[in-house]
Amino acid sequence: MVATPIGNLEDITIRALRVLKEVDLIAAEDTRHSRILLSAYDIRTPLVSLHEHNERERSAMIVSKMESGMNVAYVSDAGTPCVSDPGYQLAAAALENGIRVVPVPGPSAAIAALSVCGFPADQFLFYGFLPPKSNSRRRFLESIRGEEQTLIFYESPARIAETMREIQDVLGDRQAVVARELTKVFEEIRRGWISDIAAGLSGSKARGEFTIIVRGASREPVSMTDDEIQERLLRLRSERSISLRDAVADVVRQTGLPRKRIYDMALKCFSFSDEN
Ligand code: SAM
Repeated sequence: MVATPIGNLEDITIRALRVLKEVDLIAAEDTRHSRILLSAYDIRTPLVSLHEHNERERSAMIVSKMESGMNVAYVSDAGTPCVSDPGYQLAAAALENGIRVVPVPGPSAAIAALSVCGFPADQFLFYGFLPPKSNSRRRFLESIRGEEQTLIFYESPARIAETMREIQDVLGDRQAVVARELTKVFEEIRRGWISDIAAGLSGSKARGEFTIIVRGASREPVSMTDDEIQERLLRLRSERSISLRDAVADVVRQTGLPRKRIYDMALKCFSFSDEN
């Protein structure tokens, strides 16, 4: 199992290059994609494809080649095979047949993003891609609302803005990092409250690859100044035009701060002729 770059072609280990050169066959998630990397390093090992739609049959075929004495490397399109990528059925089939499976470690977007998030990383939960449908995504997020470890998700550009809004709705506003195009020319690492990041993402069409890191649930209520609370209330009100009561409930849920304090702030900053 050979890890390959998540963007920058220089992020490949000397060992990975040697292994890819020396094996008899490279199985690749997408042979055309992997050829770019291989030709950059002048590696001419034969390639065969093994992707999510043919993983089972191809694994059997590759295992039989390995049983006959061939050494085979597996590479996915980017990063570490099996991490939200094909590869595990091949590993499982090889192991079932008594074949040694060896890691050649290297980049993974989750770990790269974690290493710069600035949140505790001694324990973390990696969830890969969230369910694509909004209902199941919300249900899933509800099931992990109380987790105190740092949370990591992968997301596509098409859904990043919506997913950030849902994470905010369900997990509450927390600090987060959205790492885009890590190691590539347009690398961008946004840090801040989920609400601010989500606001920055909505409107324009997002491009590139995204990894999301969210601070785990805190046992302590977050510490916020009165100005920050007011700003949060006003933003909720202008973005979603919700009632004072709902805005207060949202901020209480998001921050864990006492309702009375939030309610008093709301009375100060909203005109509330139509509600109480
Ligand atoms: N196996 C890969 C790994 O080890 O990171 C992950 C493969 S998964 C199919 C692809 C997803 O990983 C992308 O949709 C994105 O969420 C994340 N990703 C991959 N490359 C990235 C990068 N350069 N910057 C940020 N996220 C990235």
